[in-house]
Amino acid sequence: MSILFYARLIGLTAGTLVYLFLIALILGHRRPRLFERLLFFLVLTLFAIYAGGLLALNARIQYGSIPDATRLLCAILIDVGTFFLLPLIWHTHVEYSRAIQRVRIKPAIWACVWLVYLIALGELIGVAVVSRARGMAFGAALLSFADFSLLGDLAVCAGSAAAVQWGLMRAEQSRSGKTLGKWLFSASCFVFAILIARIAYATASPFVSELLATATIVAGVVPGALLIYFALEHNFLEYGAQRNMVYALSATLLALLYLALVHRISGWLAPVFPPEATASVLLFVLIFLFEPLERVIGPALHRTFRERIENWQRLAVDLQEQARQGDVARLITHAEKRIRDEFGLAEVRISVPRVPGQEALKSPGGLGHVVQVPLLKDRKEIGLLEAASTGSYLTGETSAALEYLAEQLPGMFDLCRLIEEKLRLERELAERERLALLGQMAASVSHNLRNPLSSMKTVLQVQLEKSDLPGDLRHDCELVLGEIDRMSAKLRQLLDFAKPAPRGQRVDAVTLAKQTAALFRHDAERRNVRLEFEGPAEELSALASEQSLSEVLSNLILNAIEAHPNGARASGGCVRVRLARQGDFLEIRVEDDGPGISPELRAKIFQPFFTTKATGTGLGLSIVARRVDEMGGTLSCESPLDGEVGTRFRMTLPLAADESPTDKTEDHANDSHRG
Ligand code: ADP
Repeated sequence: MSILFYARLIGLTAGTLVYLFLIALILGHRRPRLFERLLFFLVLTLFAIYAGGLLALNARIQYGSIPDATRLLCAILIDVGTFFLLPLIWHTHVEYSRAIQRVRIKPAIWACVWLVYLIALGELIGVAVVSRARGMAFGAALLSFADFSLLGDLAVCAGSAAAVQWGLMRAEQSRSGKTLGKWLFSASCFVFAILIARIAYATASPFVSELLATATIVAGVVPGALLIYFALEHNFLEYGAQRNMVYALSATLLALLYLALVHRISGWLAPVFPPEATASVLLFVLIFLFEPLERVIGPALHRTFRERIENWQRLAVDLQEQARQGDVARLITHAEKRIRDEFGLAEVRISVPRVPGQEALKSPGGLGHVVQVPLLKDRKEIGLLEAASTGSYLTGETSAALEYLAEQLPGMFDLCRLIEEKLRLERELAERERLALLGQMAASVSHNLRNPLSSMKTVLQVQLEKSDLPGDLRHDCELVLGEIDRMSAKLRQLLDFAKPAPRGQRVDAVTLAKQTAALFRHDAERRNVRLEFEGPAEELSALASEQSLSEVLSNLILNAIEAHPNGARASGGCVRVRLARQGDFLEIRVEDDGPGISPELRAKIFQPFFTTKATGTGLGLSIVARRVDEMGGTLSCESPLDGEVGTRFRMTLPLAADESPTDKTEDHANDSHRG
């Protein structure tokens, strides 16, 4: 037999094994995606074509001429594989573009895909019709079909594969994806060129046609080999992450090839040496190969292992860098993404601390393998790292890497928290300095304005006492006096903002709150607002400052009243001030049914000088928050209330010592704003 014959045998064996390898990789990945299913069927068709060819060739070696049943099986494999190769090439590439490159596919392209499926079905039906017309069996028709049409079909497949791969390559984002696209395109063009040459030289010398046939077989292996190379080297479609599977497959295929070799050599030597003896010798010889094999493979494995360790270390350094940014939430997100990408995992979740009762992480479709590694600090669990593979079992190597990272992560979280705290303190200090400066300025401005204002007020009051003052002038004086009072109130607020906290003492909170609310009756009536007060019958003494508490209540009640429209638009409303005992605390609520505060505004209302009112100072709530904090209380704001309107400010203050009941019933730390 000629060299070309053996080249063809090697080409067909390599093709069968390459596509078998790919089938196993895709199956091992078990990703529940349409693209994976299509790729599986595409590779299956190529496998069928190569396996059919290999079977035919082996049968020829074995029997001289191929038995009918084997010939039929080969024809079915090659023909059906070839018929469906074209639609699957189209569909897989279009689906890749849609699902992975996220390109919108035009309906016309989908129509083309379905059309080529119809053509493939048409070919099958055509064979059936021909077999009926010629009165032959379907299998026999398939056999004859193989002779006249397959080359044309395969050429169309290679040509269209080149065309779609060119399109995909241009849309590809990743560098390795682009390179793979370029190689696949070149390989498809090459196969196409050989097939055209085969068709063109169909009647040339047997040597030329056999050479071209062999070249086609060898070239057809290249796309599969490229896919395997990119899966292993560049983790294309994350298939390379299945290291266990890759090792097991390589070992199986090598063993298979060796057994075939043993079988062939036994056959050759059969006339002079019993086949069993040859097989035993050849299998026994392997024992002597182990040592040299280890010498060759050992350093390569060591190099690969070192590279991996370096990758893990690089990953740890990268996470450490992220930890230095001082943002724990971002560190977690970043770590989850980097670990997922590095090990080609389906999902990674880091919970710090572990959420009690949380459902364990699941792999997509529940097909993969999930590992959980606790994050330990001083032997105590501070969190959990969970990783799920897409399909195959996670290798020991990946599990070891996850354990290594789980050891590093607690230290990174500590570092990150320290930096976060440092940044927070720095920000707070800068804010305090800014406020202190503003406070000083406010104090100086209000101090300088208060004296001239009180002189102006005195002058006006003296004028108003005159009985002969003309009516219109009296009206204007009263107006100006009112404005001066308003201005004085604002200046007082500015001064309060700058003033240090008065010392805490026992304050009869219920009486004080009632009196303060009464001061605002007039303002409330002006806006047609009902001001309700509700307090306990008993006397409750808070540990507070009378001045601070009155300041806080005034600001909250005034804001609640001002939340309702003024003047002609006044449509009525209600402001409720409620006091109640809550364990060791006095709870004060000021509620209104005004328009409420949007979530965006709620984040800003406690900032000094933030106001939405034309004549507001924006100091009221920042003074409230500060005073409540100084009195050791808590403050929270809830808005909107039921019915999507209204606001409730709720504060708690510690009761004076002899007021507190011994049993503490409430937890006051919940969702509250510490002033
Ligand atoms: P000012 O009253 O001078 O604007 P504040 O600090 O007291 O300053 O209030 C800041 C902002 O918070 C107000 O401008 C208003 O937009 C909002 N606000 C405060 N209380 C209420 C409330 N009860 N209902 C609606 N908005 C409110």
